[in-house]
Amino acid sequence: MSDILPIAKTARIGSLEAGRIAYGCWRFAGSTEPEARAKIDAALSIGSKLIDTAAIYGFGAEGFGAAESILGSLISMSPELRDQIVLVTKAGIHPPAPYDSRAEIVIRSCEASLIRLDTDQIDIFLIHRPDLTTSFDEVARALMELRAAGKIREAGVSNFTVTQTRALQSKLNFPLIATQPEFSPLCTDPLEDGTTDIAQELGLALMAWSPLGGGRLVNGVREDPSSVEGRVVAVLKDIALRNGAGIEHVALAWVLAHPATKFALIGTQTPDRILASAAAYDIEMTRRDWYAVLEASKGIRMP
Ligand code: NAP
Repeated sequence: MSDILPIAKTARIGSLEAGRIAYGCWRFAGSTEPEARAKIDAALSIGSKLIDTAAIYGFGAEGFGAAESILGSLISMSPELRDQIVLVTKAGIHPPAPYDSRAEIVIRSCEASLIRLDTDQIDIFLIHRPDLTTSFDEVARALMELRAAGKIREAGVSNFTVTQTRALQSKLNFPLIATQPEFSPLCTDPLEDGTTDIAQELGLALMAWSPLGGGRLVNGVREDPSSVEGRVVAVLKDIALRNGAGIEHVALAWVLAHPATKFALIGTQTPDRILASAAAYDIEMTRRDWYAVLEASKGIRMP
């Protein structure tokens, strides 16, 4: 019996299917249209149909909504693009609050996203972060209204705890479909805070954000055993060498090899790196490799 962890190339999310390496648009704002198109084309060419954005992406340098606007301009120029992607966006980060998930705010945010994205419906609409000042009843009301109006196809949560996810679910008349936590060899919290468990329990598609630690795993890390990055990179390098791949591909494979993970959201702005990321599907990672990465991250041997 093979001890290589299987890494399927596609996953279902509701009635939709997409490549498990998905493309995130957090760093997208500021791209010209041809640059943005090249990134989306690179993603589509490796099967990464799931495109993740958010109303807030672009805030700061380019402005609230800027990342959605670029994607929307690509859809306006090539309407067929809309049917080629599984479109995920988010609402609820509301500077300077910083979070506001009152029903009117969430509904207005979704409607503004629809306009910016030049589409009639968001495939998967996430509450970006929990707003501790708004009741779950009210957040659920917004999502139910948006879904009943056909403005969103499905809904999910991001950065919610297990109990927050359950509380919101208890107020909804339809099942949540996704959860989006930070998850990488540098951020293993979802393995211990119950996020990967509730994803499997409720059938939520887990979308891991910053699978390369936002670049911390790949940007000139010294293999210093006193730092988590250094320890993890040393183990990733060993697996990468054996597979003839880059450590970024091993990190992605590590995230994808967990049974709860449906999608890993990569965020590189370099089309060649997007294309190369498909190497993650071919990484041969044993169970021992997987635990060695976890041990390096935690700095302890598993008992
Ligand atoms: P990431 O893939 O972990 O990091 C991407 C960063 O790594 C980029 O700055 C990239 O730079 C850098 N990088 C350096 N060398 C690389 C290499 N060889 N291959 C690939 N990347 C390399 O992901 P992320 O951008 O932090 O996040 C991905 C997506 O997750 C976001 O776009 C967003 O959709 C989602 N996200 C969600 C939340 C949330 O709260 N729900 C929060 C954060 C992110 P280059 O561009 O120069 O390649």
